[in-house]
Amino acid sequence: MTTQGCENFEGVSKCTKAGTGCAGCVPMVKDLIAHTMKQQGKYIRTTVCEHFNYSRQELYDLVKIHQLKSYDEILDSIGKGDGCETCKPLVASIVASLWNEMILSRGNDVVQDSNDRFLANIQRGGTYSVVPRIPGGEIHPDKLIVIGEVAKKYGLYTKITGGQRIDLFGAHLNDLPAIWEELIAAGFESGHAYGKALRTVKSCVGSTWCRFGLYDSVSFAIQIEERYRGLRAPHKLKSAVSGCVRECAEAQSKDFGIIATEKGWNLYVCGNGGSKPQHALLLASDVDSATCIRYIDRFLMFYIGTADPLTRTATWLNKMDGGIDYLRNVVINDSLGMAETWEKNMQELVDAYECEWKAAVKDPEIRKRFVHFVNAPEEKDDTVRFETLRGQKKAADWNALTTH
Ligand code: SF4
Repeated sequence: MTTQGCENFEGVSKCTKAGTGCAGCVPMVKDLIAHTMKQQGKYIRTTVCEHFNYSRQELYDLVKIHQLKSYDEILDSIGKGDGCETCKPLVASIVASLWNEMILSRGNDVVQDSNDRFLANIQRGGTYSVVPRIPGGEIHPDKLIVIGEVAKKYGLYTKITGGQRIDLFGAHLNDLPAIWEELIAAGFESGHAYGKALRTVKSCVGSTWCRFGLYDSVSFAIQIEERYRGLRAPHKLKSAVSGCVRECAEAQSKDFGIIATEKGWNLYVCGNGGSKPQHALLLASDVDSATCIRYIDRFLMFYIGTADPLTRTATWLNKMDGGIDYLRNVVINDSLGMAETWEKNMQELVDAYECEWKAAVKDPEIRKRFVHFVNAPEEKDDTVRFETLRGQKKAADWNALTTH
């Protein structure tokens, strides 16, 4: 950076290819640039890109104040030029976080990440994954059977995830609407595994079956997952509820985690698993369920409104002046006077929720995009190759390295 004279992310990325792979390094590279510029005594203005002369937070506020709902509208009113690969997904994320409308509506689909565009994660070998929501990890045997039947019918690999749900891999693009139609008919909905959104609220079995359980952690996890499902944020969000201090749901490694105590719930925030694990910190002790949810509403709205793109809650807190004490003051003592507004805004998002896959399968125009060959919509991509491992299919180019 110093030898090549790069002063922004685009420059560093051009020299080093940083951020052109999984993009997980982007926030760290931006921090590095800010740190180096500061050391050189240079002024840093963290604008989104050349098309928007605002920070992410300024842009979020402007979109909200002007009630803007599509990328084109936003670019025309407060941006310039044609947009780029930095501002398009960022603006799409802001619009989704603010209004919670179907993400493929109003022409916003063209600015989404490719995973969002097809409401599925593209996987190794060019096929897609299907991840239905299983709130709190609780599932009726009838629904388990449906997942098995769908997997067999469409030849999908199945795996239980760390978030207590079942991933189905290896779906052809053309099959996605039909697969989802069958899952929706059985009562499933999108698990948003493809979006920067709430993923799972894990739960232990709690007082319903466990002799140590103080409260019904499963019911509370389901209530929380159903409240925040579909909520779009600067990064993915994970949560968990444990029925006692033994912490079987690992709530302290989540963006927000809840643990039952003798007197109520303890709420922990800003924990993170993944490549840079960080324990969550205690935000509130011994609160009742309604208070716990109010605090989570405020915490999430504060995070969504102020975090940089692709910043997990742990990193957001690490950069916050005053850290957890400041955050506690904002969320619990309402030091910014925003509590009522945030709770109202969250309720509007909750009320606006609609399963994206339910909306997609009944819209003929959206269904049309799920074709591999535009001129032969019925044909599937026959270049996709599979192998068999432990009785299930795998993408043919999977890494076969094993340990001995
Ligand atoms: S966290 Fe406590 S209540 Fe939950 S399963 Fe473990 S021991 Fe039981």
